[in-house]
Amino acid sequence: MPGEKVLVVEDEEDIQELIRYNLAREAYNVTCVTCGEEGLKSAQSLSPDLIVLDLMLPGVDGLEVCRALKSNPETAPIPVVMVSAKGEESDVVVGLELGADDYVTKPFSPKILLSRIKAVLRRKTEGPVDKDGVIKIKNLTLHPGRHEFLVDNIKVDLTFTEFKILQTLAARPGWVFTRSQIVDAVRGDNYAVTDRSVDFQVVGLRRKLGDSAEFIQTVRGVGYRFQE
Ligand code: CA
Repeated sequence: MPGEKVLVVEDEEDIQELIRYNLAREAYNVTCVTCGEEGLKSAQSLSPDLIVLDLMLPGVDGLEVCRALKSNPETAPIPVVMVSAKGEESDVVVGLELGADDYVTKPFSPKILLSRIKAVLRRKTEGPVDKDGVIKIKNLTLHPGRHEFLVDNIKVDLTFTEFKILQTLAARPGWVFTRSQIVDAVRGDNYAVTDRSVDFQVVGLRRKLGDSAEFIQTVRGVGYRFQE
């Protein structure tokens, strides 16, 4: 939506300018700051609709900023899209687990960043889950109450864990889940799930999804996401 406020925390001038230019062109209201302290201050004073946060910042780094944002009830609801350099997957995982919404890896195309930002802002307002918890996306229907999964209206049998994983991912399309976030979502039903068994379960799940298997994307070094 035009006019939505985006706060950009990025110390590299050329990247900051690239982001500013492309967001402003789409009529976003952009504010740029160059360090973590200013980022935290502006997050409070501006209450932006979204924050683009570089992880590698002088002084208070991006992860610390993310942690501070997410532990303050005032700023916790503001979605965060992280900007990371190659090889910072472990930081990305930490950031996602702290509550960041998504990330892009440098060098990124403005088009990718924009589509991530738009998707994150859209997710704030709409989701595929109806009031009964039923998830409908394209040709897929998940009915948690009945533990029923349909592809093109044909019932497909999933194990309890496969069902839970699919439910977790599909409830928030586009959202990256780390393996341990998936483990947390599935656990609690006396089934011992580990990070590695998540991968194993996803293999089984994809096989059962057939042509729709491509909806479950592997996010290298990080986890999985459901992407239409
Ligand atoms: Ca930087």
